[in-house]
Amino acid sequence: MFVDISEILMQKGGQTSFNLSADILPKDYKPNINEFLSPVKVEGTVSNTDGKFSLTAKGNVKALLSCNRCLKPVKYDIAFDIEEVYTNTGSEDEAETFTGSIIDISPVVRRSILFSLPMKVVCSEDCKGLCPVCGKDLNEGECGCDTSYINPKFESLRSLFKCDEEV
Ligand SMILES: [Zn+2]
Ligand SMILES: [Zn+2]
Repeated sequence: MFVDISEILMQKGGQTSFNLSADILPKDYKPNINEFLSPVKVEGTVSNTDGKFSLTAKGNVKALLSCNRCLKPVKYDIAFDIEEVYTNTGSEDEAETFTGSIIDISPVVRRSILFSLPMKVVCSEDCKGLCPVCGKDLNEGECGCDTSYINPKFESLRSLFKCDEEV
């Protein structure tokens, strides 16, 4: 996602606004996100403050996450805020750099999306999860397994399945 700031590049105190929308692939967001259900929208402004460029923006995207207990897909609206300072002189330690008159905000958008994900997502507060022995979805009924014994082989298969799952 690119913000063109050529308008304010040489104009101290100047401000420009942008409104971007981009389709992104879930590839870089796995296993946290299975799929994106909408484009990522980012809207904000960039101000030229003494030759530094302060970017303030808000963004949102709808995504499909996995229930932490039963792995069922769960829709989740991700909303995020961005505050970032950019410089094209490379002299600021705290700032991101850019060259020319275009700022690529993709890295900060990616960070913001990952940062805004919930620690835990469940399909429903009383989701019973999967049986740790046979893998049956316990929301669909009891399987009768003795859950005091947990098969470590199945546990590792389950985490593999979670990472490689294609939707
Ligand atoms: Zn669930
Ligand atoms: Zn079972």
